Amino acid sequence: MHTLKPCLLLGVNDPIASYRSAINENPKNMANKQTGKVSARATALNTKFWNPSRTLTISFMDNPPAALKDAIKALIREWADYISLPLVFIEGKQGIIRIKTATDQNASQIGTDALAIDAKEPTLFISSRPTDFDFRTVVLHEFGHALGLHHEHLHPDANIPWNKAKVYEEYAKKWGMDKNAVDLNLFTPISEASTITDYDKTSIMHYPVEKELTDGRFEVPMNTELSHHDKHIVSHLYPVEHSDGGSCERP
Ligand SMILES: [Zn+2]
Repeated sequence: MHTLKPCLLLGVNDPIASYRSAINENPKNMANKQTGKVSARATALNTKFWNPSRTLTISFMDNPPAALKDAIKALIREWADYISLPLVFIEGKQGIIRIKTATDQNASQIGTDALAIDAKEPTLFISSRPTDFDFRTVVLHEFGHALGLHHEHLHPDANIPWNKAKVYEEYAKKWGMDKNAVDLNLFTPISEASTITDYDKTSIMHYPVEKELTDGRFEVPMNTELSHHDKHIVSHLYPVEHSDGGSCERP
C-alpha cells in the first residue's frame, strides 16, 4: 500500500520576524484580538494570511522540466478559482512563493512566513512527480500552506483516537522520525486563531490516517480534492471584491 510521505512543519528561525511579517502584511493577523490579551505567546498565536488585495507572485528556484512546471502550475491554479488574490507565475527566482523541485521533501512555509525568510531560499518544496500516486494531493496541500492554512489533523477539535505507540513505531520505521518529530507533527494541536472553521476530515490539509494507527474505528483516506471547507475558508480569507465595493463568498 502506498503511504503519503509526511509533510513536516518547516518552522521559522526568527519568530519575531515571522510575527512582524504577518502583522505588516495584514493587521487582521494580530493575535488575540478578541480578548485584547498580548503576551509572550502572541508570536505563536497570530495567523499568517496574506493581504487579500495583494498579488502573490510564484517562481521556480530550480529549472524543472516544462511538463513538471506546467503540472504544478495547473494544480496551484485550482485554488485560484476561490480567492481574490491573483496568483502570478513569474520567470526568474524572485517570486514571493519560491518553489524548489530538486528536493526530497514536500513542505511549505505557512502564508506570510514566506516573507520572513531569506529571499534566496525556497519557501515551498515539492519532491513528488506527476506520475507519482500522490502528486495531486501534495501540490494542492503544499499550496494550501502557502495560503496560510495549517494541518487539519492538528485542529483542536480533531480528537483523532491515535494508537500512539504504533504511530511512533511506524513513523520511525517508515520515515525515520523520532518521538519529538511525531509529537510535533501529529499530536500537538494548533492553538492559533487560524482554525476558524470546524474540523474537516475531508480537507486537503489533513494527513491520511491509517486505521491500523488508530483505535481501529477511525481512518482518513488520502484526500485528493479541495474540500467544501477548504474552498469556503479561502474564499472567506481572500474574498472576491465587487465593483460596488462590497464583497462576497463564492458559492
Ligand atoms: Zn502539510
